Amino acid sequence: MSRRRAPLVLKFGGASLTDFDRVLGDVVRTRAEGRPLVLVASAREGVTDRLTDALEHPRSAARHRRILLEVRARHPGLSPAGRRHLARLARMFAALEKGPAPDGPMSDRVLSQGERLSVDWLARRLEDHDIPAVAVEADHLGLITDNTYGASCILFDRSGPAVRAGLGRLLSQGKVPVVTGYFGRSLEGRVATLGRGGSDYAAAGIGAILRAERVELVKRHVAVLTADPKEVPGARPIAELSYEEAEELAQFGARVLHPLTIEPARAHGIVLRVRSLDDARIATTIGPSRSDRHNRALTLLRPLRLLRLRVPGGRQRPGIVAEVSQRLAAAQVNLVQLYTSSALLCLVLAPTEVLAALRSLAPLTREAAVMVEGPFRVALVTVIGDGILADVDRVPSRVVATAEGFSATPRALSIAVPEEEGPRALRELHRALVEEARSS
Ligand code: ASP
Ligand code: MG
Repeated sequence: MSRRRAPLVLKFGGASLTDFDRVLGDVVRTRAEGRPLVLVASAREGVTDRLTDALEHPRSAARHRRILLEVRARHPGLSPAGRRHLARLARMFAALEKGPAPDGPMSDRVLSQGERLSVDWLARRLEDHDIPAVAVEADHLGLITDNTYGASCILFDRSGPAVRAGLGRLLSQGKVPVVTGYFGRSLEGRVATLGRGGSDYAAAGIGAILRAERVELVKRHVAVLTADPKEVPGARPIAELSYEEAEELAQFGARVLHPLTIEPARAHGIVLRVRSLDDARIATTIGPSRSDRHNRALTLLRPLRLLRLRVPGGRQRPGIVAEVSQRLAAAQVNLVQLYTSSALLCLVLAPTEVLAALRSLAPLTREAAVMVEGPFRVALVTVIGDGILADVDRVPSRVVATAEGFSATPRALSIAVPEEEGPRALRELHRALVEEARSS
C-alpha cells in the first residue's frame, strides 16, 4: 500500500462509545480525509469489569444472570451474529457454574465477549447511518499473540500477512472494518487478551501492520496530562511527546496508555494521537520528535516496597549484583527499580513480590552475611522528559531530603520516597518542573 493511500486507524475506548452521536460525527469527519479507514473498538463502558466480576464469582448463577441482563441492555440492536455472542456468553457462564475454577484461556474467552459484542453493536449503528461498517473479530482475522493469557503480546511477523490480507480485502471493497481491540489468537489457537486497556495496543499493532498514516486513540474524558489530575490540580494536557517519552510514561504507570502501545508505532514511524472525544483541543501527538522542549510528565507509583541489602566488603564482591538479580529472576520477582552503592543495594518492588524476594535472597544471608533491612513502604515519583537531567537542580530540596534512592537517565528521573510523602513529592515536583518552568 503506498503511503499516499495509507489508512487511518481510529480506536474508540469504552467510555467514548457511550456518546454515539459524537462517534458518528468523528467517523464521518475522518472519512472525509479520503483515506481508507479502520476502526478498533473496546468493550462498552463497564462491560469488561462486569465480565471480570463474573469470573471472580464463577459459581454465582444469580450474579451471572444479572450481569448477562446488564450486558444485553448495553447492546441493543445486535445482528444475528451478535446475538450468538450473547448466547455463547450465557453458555460460558453456565459452564463456569458447573466446572472447575476458570483457567487463563477460559477467562480470556469470557473477557473477549465484551469486544465482540461492542463491534457488532457499533457496526450495526454505523450502518444505520450509511457507513459501510463490518464487524471483524481479531482472532478470526489472524491477529496472533503468544500464549501468555491475560497479558499476551502481539506476534507481528505471524500476524502481518493475514491481517493485511483480511483488512485489505474489506478496504478495497470500500468497507469500514470495525475490529475488536483487547485480544487476538494465541499460538495454540485460543483466545488471548492483551491485558487491561489492551485495545490501545491492538490499535497501534494493527496500525503498524497496515503501515497506517496515523493511529488515533479516542478517549472520552481522559487525555495525556502532565500528571494525574486527582493528585495534582494544576495538571495540564501535553501537546506532544516523543515515542521514548510516551513509552517511559506508560511503563511508569500512567494508566492512560497500555505500556506496549508505543513500540509498534515507533518501529514503523507511525504517529499516534491520543485525543478527547469531548474536546478537540485536548490531544497529544506521539511521534519521532517534538518541538516543545519543555514538556514534562510525572507519575506516581505506589504502593511499593523497598528492601535494603547491606553487603559486607561491598566492592570486593563484584559478583553480588549479578547474584542478587539471578536469584530474583529465578523466583520470577520483577524489580521496579534497583539502586546500588558499594556496600548497599536497594531493591524496589511490588508489595506482592516481597515474600518471594526475601525467600530467594535468604541463602545470601546465610552464606555471604548479607543483611536485609525492610521492607519499607515507598512510592516512586518519576519525571519524564527528554533532557530531564538538565533540570536536576530544580528538584525541591525537601524531596531530595526524604529520598530513599534515585535513578536517572536522560529521559526519566525517578525518586523513591516514603509512601506517605509520595503525593506531596509529586505536587512539589510538578510545581518546580512543570508549572514554574513554563512561567520562567
Ligand atoms: N475492554 C478492555 C478493558 O477494559 C480493553 C480496553 O478497554 O482497552 O481493559
Ligand atoms: Mg474498557
